[in-house]
Amino acid sequence: MNEPLYGVYGVSGCGRGVMPLAREQLKRAAVAYDRLVFVDDKPEASVVNGHCVLTYRDFLDKPAGERHVVLAIANSAIRESLAKRCAETGVRPWTVCAANVVKMDAVELGEGAILSPFVTLTSNIRIGRHFHANLYSYVEHDCVIGDFVTFAPGAKCNGNIVIEDHAYIGTGAIIKQGRPGQPLVIGRRAVVGMGAVVTKDVAPGETVVGNPAKPFGKG
Ligand code: UDP
Repeated sequence: MNEPLYGVYGVSGCGRGVMPLAREQLKRAAVAYDRLVFVDDKPEASVVNGHCVLTYRDFLDKPAGERHVVLAIANSAIRESLAKRCAETGVRPWTVCAANVVKMDAVELGEGAILSPFVTLTSNIRIGRHFHANLYSYVEHDCVIGDFVTFAPGAKCNGNIVIEDHAYIGTGAIIKQGRPGQPLVIGRRAVVGMGAVVTKDVAPGETVVGNPAKPFGKG
């Protein structure tokens, strides 16, 4: 069997949300339904929502030409370690993109992204590897986004913003736009809380909440 095999890695909330998008994408490409499976290291059922659930070992053992996987797990540290495992075992990163995503001009999108329904990426944007843009989130013009960044639903990233690797932007958070040549910067592994309104830089590793957003626990 030389047909490619496709996996949605993670069978929990995130993975079950991504599977229908993956299925539609493969249907548009005329790939057979049974070439798409869930992959999970702790499977609790052999079939979920009509798709087989395989361990990673079984995914590797199933006859196939190329193997492609989308890492559908919100925790970015887990995504990074699984990306490494996939690279070491010849499994290719797969990007899954909802049919109604809007991408404008000069959008550079790294491998392995998930772009959920109603996501918009406007113009002149650079995004790293394994980006997750959940429902209704957007990235405005002239933003630079690192690797393994996660946007929860409705995250609003306005123009001229830099978001470093592994940052997490919570549901409905709003990040104020920066200036050309003077971007607003969300540091590496920073967390922006649900509904926060971010008006200035966030330091690496810091968690901010509220309007205007302030470091968590510092009132
Ligand atoms: N998982 C896995 N390998 C790992 C870490 C997690 O297969 O190294 C699976 C885990 O078994 C679970 C899913 O990924 O099914 C993560 O689920 P969780 O509810 O924690 O996260 P979410 O779906 O919200 O990202």
